[in-house]
Amino acid sequence: MVRILQGGPVAEAIRTHVGRKVKQLQQQHGVTPGLAAILVGDNPASSVYVRNKERACRQAGILTETFHMPASTSQGELLQVVARLNDDLRFHGILVQLPLPPHLEEATVINAVHPSKDIDGLHPINMGRLAKGEPAFVPCTPAGVQQLLLWYGYSLEGKHVVICGRSNIVGKPLALLLLQKAPGANATVTVCHTGTVDLAGVTRQADILVVAAGRPNTITGEMVQEPTVVIDVGINRVPDTASERGYRLTGDVDFDSVAPKVQAISPVPGGVGPMTIAMLLFNTLKAACHTVGAPCSLPPLPKGDP
Ligand code: NAP
Repeated sequence: MVRILQGGPVAEAIRTHVGRKVKQLQQQHGVTPGLAAILVGDNPASSVYVRNKERACRQAGILTETFHMPASTSQGELLQVVARLNDDLRFHGILVQLPLPPHLEEATVINAVHPSKDIDGLHPINMGRLAKGEPAFVPCTPAGVQQLLLWYGYSLEGKHVVICGRSNIVGKPLALLLLQKAPGANATVTVCHTGTVDLAGVTRQADILVVAAGRPNTITGEMVQEPTVVIDVGINRVPDTASERGYRLTGDVDFDSVAPKVQAISPVPGGVGPMTIAMLLFNTLKAACHTVGAPCSLPPLPKGDP
């Protein structure tokens, strides 16, 4: 019987822990963690994500404000807002919701966020630190994938982790994170992409398979083997006339053919999605703790560190 790795209960435990630490920080240091979100344009999915993040921040006692700018915003205007927020002491973290409209250069905007406020972990300094195994903000989705596995008792130590996707947001930082010679990591990592020859031949060798390809049904039943644990990062909107919204959310894994063949699988929605938001709250708390030299750690794992 396949085990379904729900992200909700794990994310809830992390959010409760963050909420407690926020209160401590306020009482002991008079600091309230603050998150500024920048949303450019009216991409419906991005608007939903930002609303969810705002709600989660408020529940955890984190100050939050969204700077919603029109789709016609110029690069210069956007960079001015980032610069202002870099200097604004109310905000310890700055989140630039991606994707940006095509006329804006994402890399330039990400690089303009001060590394100490880069709670998405996308700035080259944080990515470089992660690559070197130095303390850094770890991008929220990869950090969420790692925590999800550890909470359900899946050690990564010595495991063969196959990652399908090499984006700067998910695939690459996840590979760097799990490669670290550190507790909760120390895996053997293989990263696949569209240039990979015989994808199924690689995915069948995985102890843990993480799929972040941005395409439904990238992984199907014949591409996995029984002991594998599958983490589906994908979030795709597919048309569905039976749904009131006209679409439904689906992952990158063909759940129906894969689930019966593997040991465990994370669902979409409800798997990695809630973990990403929980880790965003944690990174914002961490940024605020840094400003006063307060310690900051994740809650202990249910069965102790692997
Ligand atoms: P992305 O930037 O489009 O990258 C997709 C990666 O997958 C690329 O490296 C691409 O290879 C690779 N790929 C695509 N099709 C493939 C195939 N058939 N075989 C092997 N590799 C393939 O996407 P992303 O930003 O990483 O996001 C991936 C998915 O995760 C999306 O569905 C996104 O919505 C979702 N996501 C979810 C969360 C969450 O919180 N749950 C957060 C972020 C993203 P090439 O490099 O060769 O093109």
